Amino acid sequence: MLAYLDHHATTPCAPSVVAAMAPWWSECWANPSSRLYRPALEAAAAVEHHRARLARLLGAAEARVVFTSGATEANNLALKGVAEAALAGSSPRRRLVSVVTEHRAVLDPLRYLERHGFPLTLLPVQPDGLLDPIQLEAALGPDVLLVSVMAANNEIGVLQPIAQIAGLCQRHGVLLHCDAAQATGHIPLAMDALGIDLLSISGHKLYGPVGSGALLVRKGVALAPQQLGGSQEEGLRAGTLAVPLIVGLSKAMELAHADREARAERLATLRDALRRGVETLGDVQLNGSLDQRLPHNLNITISGVDGTALHQRLRRRIAVSSGSACSQGSPSHVLQALGRSRQEAAASIRFGLGRHTSAADIAEAIAAVQEAVQALRR
Ligand SMILES: *Cc1c(COP(=O)(O)O)cnc(C)c1O
Repeated sequence: MLAYLDHHATTPCAPSVVAAMAPWWSECWANPSSRLYRPALEAAAAVEHHRARLARLLGAAEARVVFTSGATEANNLALKGVAEAALAGSSPRRRLVSVVTEHRAVLDPLRYLERHGFPLTLLPVQPDGLLDPIQLEAALGPDVLLVSVMAANNEIGVLQPIAQIAGLCQRHGVLLHCDAAQATGHIPLAMDALGIDLLSISGHKLYGPVGSGALLVRKGVALAPQQLGGSQEEGLRAGTLAVPLIVGLSKAMELAHADREARAERLATLRDALRRGVETLGDVQLNGSLDQRLPHNLNITISGVDGTALHQRLRRRIAVSSGSACSQGSPSHVLQALGRSRQEAAASIRFGLGRHTSAADIAEAIAAVQEAVQALRR
């Protein structure tokens, strides 16, 4: 078996999550919006139970939970929804502010909005991948409507200073959206306490079902629906509710919270062993801050090797990537934002450890990288 170290691309759905979903496919399959008979009312009650539990686990008592198909849809709903609602409102604020290292599921909707009358400011990051709050504050003029900053980066794992960013946004009357697809279930994250207005999450990044996710929206934030065709989710997202996926998302979040601390500690130890192991090769650079980082992420650039040849060799033994699964083909925009050249970005390896990663997987990864790099440098 290939050692799977690509948990930022996706995670396996936990067996107990699959088990929790099972009856909702084949036994309790009524449509929760058909409120005239008992099975439908039971499905509706289950949805509300899991909605409340999800909000509680995310410290979001002040938020509405809108179930979506994943974080991509949640980001689109957040960004386009806020922009469209602003057009209908009285505020003249239109500018959107974000960061160059965001996921494409944030950058692409923002660029779309830029073409439709919402000026966009994309802030650079420091060499360690972190946003400089002073630069953010300088960008927060009276025209700014919304700031979007991810909690944890999907390539280099760095954790942006969300509490500080939220404080600045509040002081300037600006909404804050946070793509937390890589953060929830992996690091502590409490929406209300942090002061986040809109939060995107994804099921398949936290050992839940692919095709599940949610946007949490602080009560009082005006949002225009981006999918029309029914009154589900208070009119914010039309379409029959996917009860099994909602149950699975909530169950996965509960499990992730239960083992989060122990998992983080175990994986940080394995990750540090991996880093030491690959660094013995020499001319290996770490991408992104080491201390403000997801415990299960490592991203390195290896000098003096061709990226394509490197990954061709690695793929025989380990599942890793050179960048985001969503931007296949082109060298990582995140690594280039840190100052890496296109060649360096291609000769980079993203490792994402996970719940089932063992010491043997790490030993295999170190051996695979050493063998590949030594052969290519020879
Ligand atoms: C995976 C990911 C997404 C997309 O999530 P889906 O649920 O697959 O749509 C968005 N943002 C980040 C940071 C991600 O890692």
